[in-house]
Amino acid sequence: MDFQISPAQRELMDATEKLCNQLLPLAKETRRADTPEALNKLRKTMAENGLLGLNMPTEYGGMGLPLLDTLLLLQTIQKVDSTLCGLSHRTSTGAVGAVLELGSAAQKEKYVGGVVRGELGLSIGITEPEAGSAATAMKTRARIEGDEVVINGQKTFITAARDNHATLLYCRFGTTGKASDIGAVILPHDAPGLTISAGMVNMAGERQYELFMSDCRIPRENVLIDGDAFGKLISVYNSERLGSISRMLGSAQASFEYALQYIKERQQFGQALADFQGLQWMVADMKVKLEAAQLLTWRAAANTAAGLPSPLETSVAKVYVAQATKEICDDAIQLLGGYGYMTEYPVEGRYREVRGGSIYGGTMQVHKNMIAGHVLGRRNNQWKRKEKA
Ligand SMILES: Cc1cc2nc3c(=O)[nH]c(=O)nc-3n(C[C@H](O)[C@H](O)[C@H](O)COP(=O)(O)OP(=O)(O)OC[C@H]3O[C@@H](n4cnc5c(N)ncnc54)[C@H](O)[C@@H]3O)c2cc1C
Repeated sequence: MDFQISPAQRELMDATEKLCNQLLPLAKETRRADTPEALNKLRKTMAENGLLGLNMPTEYGGMGLPLLDTLLLLQTIQKVDSTLCGLSHRTSTGAVGAVLELGSAAQKEKYVGGVVRGELGLSIGITEPEAGSAATAMKTRARIEGDEVVINGQKTFITAARDNHATLLYCRFGTTGKASDIGAVILPHDAPGLTISAGMVNMAGERQYELFMSDCRIPRENVLIDGDAFGKLISVYNSERLGSISRMLGSAQASFEYALQYIKERQQFGQALADFQGLQWMVADMKVKLEAAQLLTWRAAANTAAGLPSPLETSVAKVYVAQATKEICDDAIQLLGGYGYMTEYPVEGRYREVRGGSIYGGTMQVHKNMIAGHVLGRRNNQWKRKEKA
């Protein structure tokens, strides 16, 4: 057991932070322009600087980092900027991980290689209007017809769908209605029969989109796995969850560091805010929460004996980090007083960034259900039982 960040990891984090600070003007310009061209330019620049595909294998052009180092870098990048980290995250532990684990050689070359080179972006499509937490209730159906797959259905809340070039789409291949029908395809966003909505803006300013598939046709070679794969897909998805968790840590760390500096400088009652014991205890609580949250996350990343993170350790980290980072970011607002509540200061935005973490990637309640099931040693079935006749 080693709880220390190694000198090599620290060096990598420092170099990454410096690099991201250099790219910050471009990230801000990309947000301001809000065009596919600007985003593609940022993607390319990040690829050239080794900020995409952090844990993707070097044979596809990735950085080949272990999951733990990848998470350390995602936290570091998020501390500097959320747009930069969104791209690093989605090209590292995002949907691309499923293609790497389950895809054919051609799919890996095209999608893992393309994503890592900054040529392609890949979203993940699980949620449907009537299948949120109950993801296995999804209805989107894929029917194989000769060399083609015909897809009908609808997805919702799909992050960055308009920015990206394809979605890893979870869908049903069979008609039993059971989870065993579920597999996945890679759905190119120019496929005939696919419509992407104008999107909804979330409280962090990012957009989620709906996908409508109406006799949408894609080549059969885009099938990633044709059924009996929900468990496998979710196992890979735990790495993506740890990526999101690390982003929450980055936002909380940024808030904490900003608030610390602020209370050392701001004077009230003739002394620095940092001199008041009531605020010192808040700072101590924030520090304890940040460290505990980091350690749970890093444990889940370090224990990947089977190649993928343990579902239990991922859920434990998720529940604690989602709660702790909300509290840290909320306390940072409090430490800045009225300025903390103003959009001209960075801490309110950090709160908005972490708030979604209690919802996406499985809500806190759903993760608690999973933890309870593990602890009690039973399958915690949430489905309403059918009335006996
Ligand atoms: C910012 C953001 C980005 C997202 N990005 C994506 C994406 O890229 N791709 C994608 O597929 N999806 C994405 N989602 C969707 C996300 O995964 C769902 O919102 C989430 O799974 C919850 O589903 P729901 O919103 O339908 O809520 P519901 O399932 O309707 O839940 C509503 C409330 O009920 C609670 N609840 C439900 N069931 C239970 C239960 N059995 N026990 C206890 N409590 C329960 C929930 O915890 C929640 O508090 C994103 C969501 C957000 C907010």
